[in-house]
Amino acid sequence: MKDYHTHHPHSAGGFLNAVTREDWDRVAAAEGMQPCFGVHPWHARTADPAQIAFDLDEYLTRYPQAGVGETGLDFSVAHRDDAEAQRTLLQVHLGAAFRHDRMAHLHCVRAHEELLRLLRERNRCGTLPRFLIHAWNGPHELAREFLALGGIFSVGKRELSHPRAAERYARIPVGKIFPETDDHPEDWKTVLAMFAVLRFQA
Ligand SMILES: [Zn+2]
Repeated sequence: MKDYHTHHPHSAGGFLNAVTREDWDRVAAAEGMQPCFGVHPWHARTADPAQIAFDLDEYLTRYPQAGVGETGLDFSVAHRDDAEAQRTLLQVHLGAAFRHDRMAHLHCVRAHEELLRLLRERNRCGTLPRFLIHAWNGPHELAREFLALGGIFSVGKRELSHPRAAERYARIPVGKIFPETDDHPEDWKTVLAMFAVLRFQA
């Protein structure tokens, strides 16, 4: 099993997500990892969407194995003032992922309804890329809506420790939910163990 969402190279391999534009060359050079190029929604305000669109095309062409991420929406108190910049930048990332047929790696905090609306609209227009929502913590009813659009999920120690973890995750089909470490590669073995236990709680 590989790590489906991390920001640090480690021996399990997996999807190494950029956080800022400055990360891209480091991410591309990491051995044994699958690079993902993007700008995290926390940094949306500092990014020029036109420049990111141009750079994504260049990097995705140069790295045919690469994905797109991290991108997404974060409407928590600390970040919701940047909502408009986040939406614009997310569309840039989704457009690039669709054109290059790559997976988009999504962050979504307090924005599940809006993300769903936006992905459905792309699905209706035939421009929806493959996508993964990391640190998924929504109810199963909402998971089903994203699954219907072809989405997959990853969860880490924080999500798997939640009292509602079994209720949220145990009914998501095998092959649609995966382990992640995000900023904590040292958690990998614990995450794998917790993830395995989840499968017996359905
Ligand atoms: Zn992340």
